Amino acid sequence: MPKQDPLERARNFNEVAFGYTPDMAIQEARRCLVCKKPICIQGCPVGIDIPLFIKHIGEGNFKEAIRILKDKNLLPAICGRVCPQEEQCEIKCVIAKKGGPIAIGRLERFAADWEAQEGILEVPDIKKNSGKMVAVVGAGPAGLTTAADLAKMGHKVTIFEALNEPGGVLTYGIPEFRLPKAIVKREVEYIKKLGVDLLLDFVVGKALTVDELLQDFNAVFIGTGAGLPWFMNIDGENFNGVYSANEYLTRVNLMKAYLFPEYDTPIKIGKHVAVIGGGNVAMDAARVALRLGAEDVRIVYRRSRQEMPARLEEIENAEEEGIIFEYLTLPVKYIGDPHHWIQEMECLRMELGEPDKSGRRRPIPIKGSEFRTPVDVVVCAIGQSPNPLIPSTTPGLNIGKDGNIIIDPATGKTSKKGVFAGGDVATGAATVILAMGAARVASRYIEEYMKTGQW
Ligand code: SF4
Repeated sequence: MPKQDPLERARNFNEVAFGYTPDMAIQEARRCLVCKKPICIQGCPVGIDIPLFIKHIGEGNFKEAIRILKDKNLLPAICGRVCPQEEQCEIKCVIAKKGGPIAIGRLERFAADWEAQEGILEVPDIKKNSGKMVAVVGAGPAGLTTAADLAKMGHKVTIFEALNEPGGVLTYGIPEFRLPKAIVKREVEYIKKLGVDLLLDFVVGKALTVDELLQDFNAVFIGTGAGLPWFMNIDGENFNGVYSANEYLTRVNLMKAYLFPEYDTPIKIGKHVAVIGGGNVAMDAARVALRLGAEDVRIVYRRSRQEMPARLEEIENAEEEGIIFEYLTLPVKYIGDPHHWIQEMECLRMELGEPDKSGRRRPIPIKGSEFRTPVDVVVCAIGQSPNPLIPSTTPGLNIGKDGNIIIDPATGKTSKKGVFAGGDVATGAATVILAMGAARVASRYIEEYMKTGQW
């Protein structure tokens, strides 16, 4: 797929990849064997009829391709960009060993972008009004999916979103150059066209509790994601210039800090930036720092490249753009100036031992390997867990040790009658498509519960 030149894109926020042309999409789609037993579908958390949509692309029938996609996935332009297809549908593709798997994600993106370019926004059939009402808390991938599914089933859905824009992590977390916000807006508009009401700036747990929602709605779905950042709890983490990835990315993506003073929110533009962590969020934060104008940006990760949880595509993009990777390195303290701004970072070198519980080789500090590096911005991207507001204001909701809402994954039911949950708030931070898959399961059981009243 054609991309912007790495040196050029490292200084702008425009989308990195341009997407397939129609000819490229047709050519790629024609490689598909349209298998009678398509195991690629088994890898798709929302069960898209992959060979059928690809077959239509191969025949140049893009309109039908997008119809098939949207039958199971209402956010195809988003999933085509940010889902890890290489670990899901594409890894299962039977021709993976002969010239590489079919680029299912890129074809999904192509079909969705084609629809947008054509200015088409077809609304599927919606069932007759059931008279039932559902409150969905959170307008991220899980909440939007549940809302759309239930609206199509004929139920009245209201989404309550705490921020001033819908999209959840798609809006505040993933940068413009990986997922343009116009695309998120367009897919949210589509969901509104299904009759879903969207209330922004509405903090459930403060303005109204879940119990209060249950007085007016037949069921509540909680899809509030995982927005509580983790820190390492090391000396100096409170210095000015040390951000959580959550805050750093929210300032830039949601509040457009890169356009300050045109937009109100400022951000510290670092010269020497360190991003701690090895996941997609770390890659995003590092690439944002580069685009903001940093002289050098380093990813500091305690294991090696092989163990990095980020998508290979994103690691390669970051490498091409000039991000420095400090593998087998662990920050142990930050040193500040007299005005409490971060100035230096002290790190230890690591070596890899036996695999730990996660199956990855355990990093072990090398004694006496301490060294210092000058930094003026540090972004901590080591993970996040669910925000505790709803758990702490909802009696009867069972909560796990990481602050996650405990659900039955087969139904999305929580321990509280009438309350369902899904996505990162239940699993901890995972992927957009897994959140959507969990939301789809919950939608089915929300409908069943509203029909039968049985829990
Ligand atoms: S497994 Fe691969 S070749 Fe077979 S239908 Fe799926 S995408 Fe096409």
